[in-house]
Amino acid sequence: MKKIFCVLCVLCGWHSARALDRQAFTFTDYDLRIKITPATKTLEAEGKVTLRNDTEQPQRNPVLQISSALDWDAITVAGKPVQYLAQPYSSDIDHTGTLSEAVITLPQPVPAQGTVEIEISYSGQIAQDSTRLTGIGVPAERAARSEWDQMGESFTALRGIGYVAWYPIATEAASLSEGISESVMAWKQHQSRSRMRVSLCWQGDSQLAANGQITSAAMQPAGLNCRLLQYDPIGMAVPTFVLGPYRALSHPPTAIQYVAGHESYARTWAAAGEAVAPFITQWFGPRKRPVQIVELPDRNMSPFEAGNVFFTPLVNGDEKDIRVILAHQLAHASFQSPRPWMDEGLAHFAQALEREQQDGRKAALAYMDEWLPLLQEAEKEFLPPASGKMPDQLPRGQPLVAATDEVFFRTKAMFVWWMLRDMVGDEGLERALRAYHPERDKEPSYFQRLLSDQFHRDLEWFFDDWVYRDRGLPELHITSVYPRKLIPEDWSVTVTVENSGSAGAEVPVAVRAAQGEERKRLEVRAGEKTAVRIPIPVVPLQAVVNDGSVPAFDMDNNSAEIKMADEAR
Ligand SMILES: [Zn+2]
Repeated sequence: MKKIFCVLCVLCGWHSARALDRQAFTFTDYDLRIKITPATKTLEAEGKVTLRNDTEQPQRNPVLQISSALDWDAITVAGKPVQYLAQPYSSDIDHTGTLSEAVITLPQPVPAQGTVEIEISYSGQIAQDSTRLTGIGVPAERAARSEWDQMGESFTALRGIGYVAWYPIATEAASLSEGISESVMAWKQHQSRSRMRVSLCWQGDSQLAANGQITSAAMQPAGLNCRLLQYDPIGMAVPTFVLGPYRALSHPPTAIQYVAGHESYARTWAAAGEAVAPFITQWFGPRKRPVQIVELPDRNMSPFEAGNVFFTPLVNGDEKDIRVILAHQLAHASFQSPRPWMDEGLAHFAQALEREQQDGRKAALAYMDEWLPLLQEAEKEFLPPASGKMPDQLPRGQPLVAATDEVFFRTKAMFVWWMLRDMVGDEGLERALRAYHPERDKEPSYFQRLLSDQFHRDLEWFFDDWVYRDRGLPELHITSVYPRKLIPEDWSVTVTVENSGSAGAEVPVAVRAAQGEERKRLEVRAGEKTAVRIPIPVVPLQAVVNDGSVPAFDMDNNSAEIKMADEAR
């Protein structure tokens, strides 16, 4: 009898653990009052969150998670205390590596699609913390660069999910070693139509900068500065605010909030923005909003994109680098898409375009090449077996069209846009981008159709290999080169290229001579061999496939010397 009882215990325990569905509710509305005391690094919050049951069953156990630096002070529903279990919950979604989780038991279950308003209060001290990064072996100095969330008298910065859970969330545990971007992305997509309203008060004379709408607050308690910060809707941004000695410089197309004393840096950025703007407008259309920049006070802090606002150090930027950075933000201001591979991919593509404007195609390809190793690493499960290199980690491939991992929707997408541009030409791509309407983008093939309308060519295979599916990268090499002397002084070189990868590509093939080179473009589908004949008016010396514009697994085996019998010369 005792034995049976224990078995039941185990089953019950298992059942209740399984029954806790952290994603059952959507947080549709936040209404928070937050007081910040920079001198003591203290945050005190109260207010209410509205949760909607998005499952098909009644739910009784909503979960609220905040940073482990904060503690739950009270949780009530309709003014009455509710039962809740507060516990630490390990998750790298927060910079401390742990969340303070409250598992609530409601007096009544919430029916499917029903809502519940939960009144909350919580408080604590938030300090700079990079343990989640140093814990996986990131050197302390590098970790501190990206973990700049903190509270203090000179500077307070709080980013939301993925950094500091300063407002309640509900997520499954995520670990940095496996990547947290997928969990963060899933949360953002799920809550993108939700609203947040924060009545924010702080001590001291700091100015507020944030990525939400800032208006004056109705109440101004003595000794406090207060503003109303609203996100309606939250969209895909991470609600982020900073407090510091900010000044404003509005100089279209940029609106810059800079740290007092840094006006000359702000002016350099504003001038760079003005210089790059016409070129980006030509590609991506008229701006729909200004480029908002908020300065990070320490030059070692890593820049952060938060919706419409770009947080970055302004100090010591090289003019060319600043232009490349601003090309990204200007592209966002002109072109928006709900698809990350378009939204972010095109903004990175804009940076490569700007680099090309500055110093030519080679400089742009070198700029993109810096990102390539990350992509090769992410795609290595697709390495051709003959390469002898074996993948040593779990597959992580993602179709670009649905990618949630940054290496895909940023780096791979940048290359894909560059390849498309090489295939259809600047004008064709610009026209397709102008014809794009985010609200009409309901199917994955929407953009492909726009492009096909502009450019009558079959692009299905390309979108299939690069966008709709993840087929890894091509592996291109020259299998043979035949030079032939024509009459009178011309040469013709037949170059055969093999693609042993599983993604096809249209790739430039060049025949080089002492006096220059001739090039043609060649479509080489996955697993195929294709030849191209390239005429050249001087003695050819070398054939080269891929100038770096097609991201491939091995970029070092792309050339072949041209050897000729003496009589042929
Ligand atoms: Zn971006």
